[in-house]
Amino acid sequence: MSDIRVRIAPSPTGPLHIGTARTALFNYLFARHTGGTFILRLEDTDVARSSIAYEKDILDGLHWLGLTWDEGPDVAGGPDRGPFAPYRQMQRLSSYAEAAAQLLAEDKAYPCYCTPDELEAERRRQEAAHLPPRYSGRCATLTPAQRAAFEAEGRRPALRFRVTPGVVAFDDIVRGHVEIDASALGGDLVIVRADGTPLYHFTVVVDDAAMLISHVIRGEDHLSNTPKHILLFRALGYPEPAFAHLPLILNPDRTKMSKRKSQTAISDYMAEGFVPEAMVNYLALLGWSTGTEEEVLSLAELVERFELERVNKAGAVFDRERLEWLNGQWIRRLPPAELVDRLRPFLEADLVAGRIERMPSDDEIAALVPLVQERLPVLGAIADLVGFLFVESVPLDPALLVPKRWDAATALAGLRAARDTIAANGEIAFDHGGLEAALRGLAQTRGWKAGDLFMAIRVALTGRTATPPLFESMVALGYRRTLERLERAAAVLEQSTAPAAS
Ligand code: GLU
Repeated sequence: MSDIRVRIAPSPTGPLHIGTARTALFNYLFARHTGGTFILRLEDTDVARSSIAYEKDILDGLHWLGLTWDEGPDVAGGPDRGPFAPYRQMQRLSSYAEAAAQLLAEDKAYPCYCTPDELEAERRRQEAAHLPPRYSGRCATLTPAQRAAFEAEGRRPALRFRVTPGVVAFDDIVRGHVEIDASALGGDLVIVRADGTPLYHFTVVVDDAAMLISHVIRGEDHLSNTPKHILLFRALGYPEPAFAHLPLILNPDRTKMSKRKSQTAISDYMAEGFVPEAMVNYLALLGWSTGTEEEVLSLAELVERFELERVNKAGAVFDRERLEWLNGQWIRRLPPAELVDRLRPFLEADLVAGRIERMPSDDEIAALVPLVQERLPVLGAIADLVGFLFVESVPLDPALLVPKRWDAATALAGLRAARDTIAANGEIAFDHGGLEAALRGLAQTRGWKAGDLFMAIRVALTGRTATPPLFESMVALGYRRTLERLERAAAVLEQSTAPAAS
């Protein structure tokens, strides 16, 4: 084992976000590539917004992606694993209290008695004067007597960290040399609220030091926090970790990825039928590339190739089409029996939702694999492709039954002729070759374009214009049901074109 120790530190205040999953993946890849240790820590100090349901969503999502961690809780609400337990911040409060006492004793932090109203008034004055918001430092130099007076008033102090003036510089593995002037940090920083709860900037530093984190790899949205953290590391006498800030993930319009413009919850992608192989493959390419043409890469291949130095600085646009393409690629690579296993829950959900009326057996699903494996963009599209097989009858839109170049009378004639041709050939000729020969022959005799005839038949049998190949679909549907559906479609079409009864 190397000394490399990295972590993902999600706050269980929302479902697993694409950005968190990408950060987790990059930390994982870096740890596995270098023989380091990957840690999961739950930053749950925002008690009001944290929930066990979100914790579960996050841990389940990371497990689903195949990212394993060496230390931290494995299941929501479950026990911690690892030498630095506990890995939930709410169970580490005593260590923050200790660090706070140290800073206070060394006068690197001070009690601040400003009330929320006073701070708000200060902020308003700055706004009116077009100044950036910044703590004025009113409580930075209180005398013991002034403090005692505030205490006597019953005020409870927050704890503020003294932000020392000057430039904070660090060499970011992705972004290179970064310098941020401490004057841009908003003044002295609250690290413990008046009610005693420690704040993120503080807890993250105390924990990263305690857990011997060697590299902090996280999203670029944290870049402006890093100088605060570095000042805290120094003030506490801790060694500074290396930093790597991953590029932002962007909406297609190049704004920062948001729930409003993009689907951001991993669980929503899972529910649509993206496979984890494709999801990790795609997430890895959000801000990183192998530098070659290689695109379809397994988690193991990613581990082998991953280098933090190859992470881009520029924001990465989330491209759903590319994700779907990769998903199709990974679905094609699944062994058929595995695809059956993965499709089953989606078909079960289709049954519950009424999209199909009976659950196909495993053998039936397996028989469909050759028809669908190359055509599924997501597993959840299975009912769109073959749901027509597992319903009593399909909904028919008469307009769809009439191919573009045809009129209703031709479509009606086509459907009836197709039915009669198939019936005349009998069940014995009801296979791919027999059907194709008979129906192409029919089109030729009547002077129809085969494509038009096939489209009318396709809609009659499936209710849709896009389906697996027609003859395979017919064979899957069976002789009797094919004839019935052609008859019914003809009846529906006839009815829709009949003059309304007066
Ligand atoms: N809890 C923080 C977040 O979810 C962790 C950020 C960090 O990695 O420092 O954004």
